[in-house]
Amino acid sequence: MAGRAASKVLSGARVVLPTGTVDNGRVIVEGGRIAGAAPADAPSVDLSGHWIVPGFVDMHVHGGGGASFTSGTAEDVLRGVRTHREHGTTTIAASTVTGEMDVLARQAALLSELVQQGDLAGIHFEGPFISPCRKGAHSEDLLRDPDPAEVRKLIDAAHGTARMVTLATELPGGIDSVRLLAEHGVIAAIGHTDATYEQTVEAIDAGATVATHLYNAMPALGHRTPGPIAALLEDERITVELINDGTHLHPAALELAYHRAGADRVAFITDAMDAAGFGDGMYDLGPLAVEVRDGVARLVDGGSIAGSTLTLDTAFKRAVTIDRLPVEDVVRSVSANPARLLGVDDRVGSLEPGKDADLVVLDADFTLKGVMRKGAWVIEP
Ligand SMILES: [Zn+2]
Repeated sequence: MAGRAASKVLSGARVVLPTGTVDNGRVIVEGGRIAGAAPADAPSVDLSGHWIVPGFVDMHVHGGGGASFTSGTAEDVLRGVRTHREHGTTTIAASTVTGEMDVLARQAALLSELVQQGDLAGIHFEGPFISPCRKGAHSEDLLRDPDPAEVRKLIDAAHGTARMVTLATELPGGIDSVRLLAEHGVIAAIGHTDATYEQTVEAIDAGATVATHLYNAMPALGHRTPGPIAALLEDERITVELINDGTHLHPAALELAYHRAGADRVAFITDAMDAAGFGDGMYDLGPLAVEVRDGVARLVDGGSIAGSTLTLDTAFKRAVTIDRLPVEDVVRSVSANPARLLGVDDRVGSLEPGKDADLVVLDADFTLKGVMRKGAWVIEP
């Protein structure tokens, strides 16, 4: 019955609810949503020995399945979306990379259509308003200062679907741009930044609420120069993105951040590029050439890490089995928190009656066995 949104009862699993884990729990699916009671004739699916957790929400991802969200075709975007869905990510905000302003505007127009039709949950602009000192895999000659008028142009091109802009808030115009984004209900995310501790505090006070892949593309934590990392971790208004692929972060660095911020202030992201769920080889990240070897993506020119090949099922499994984080905490960091930030937590992010029946079935070792989106199996367990 794969693909059909019929009513069904998923039974026998350990179900992670907002209130905690229920052993031998039931999830009732009706009309694409989670229901409070089952019709008498609803077929039962026995998932004994498995976990059921909410579908994952990725607020920072550039592509997957060999396709990029910024290639300019809807087919490519949907191929990437499908690949991540098969790895449990039922809600996706598409991330762009630095490009010419008119190219970004065209990409935004296409992505916004896919948001309107429900395939994406929003757009995240990563660049071009970032620091040349911390450019990572962004083209240096296309970077620009965050002039609020230009920031405004970019979010206007997204027709109300821009959810987040990553910017280096210490650059000229940075603080005014943070205020502008906050006024328009778009998340100002601090990232690819060379800011000091004090400059970061100023940006948070102006309205920034997310740290883009904490630790990566920002000054390291120093005992006399704590830099952005300390400022972002200590402030309750900030949610920190973490890339839990074992390459971007040492497990000890992840643990330090996770315990300082707490489960409710962490969003696990993939920052994945085209090779996620696809394989090694040569790819493009925006205008730059990338080689993926042994699952690690690096710029051909200079060798900078260029996004990841991570999928959130792997990030989830690592968090539980390697980082030893409680399952309930990981669920908040991989589903509830990003759903709240993207403004879609009325529909997704937790298993509650009335919300979309978006869920992931994991075996006892936390390996993905099934994915349901809006009541239909993407992968039938
Ligand atoms: Zn990114």
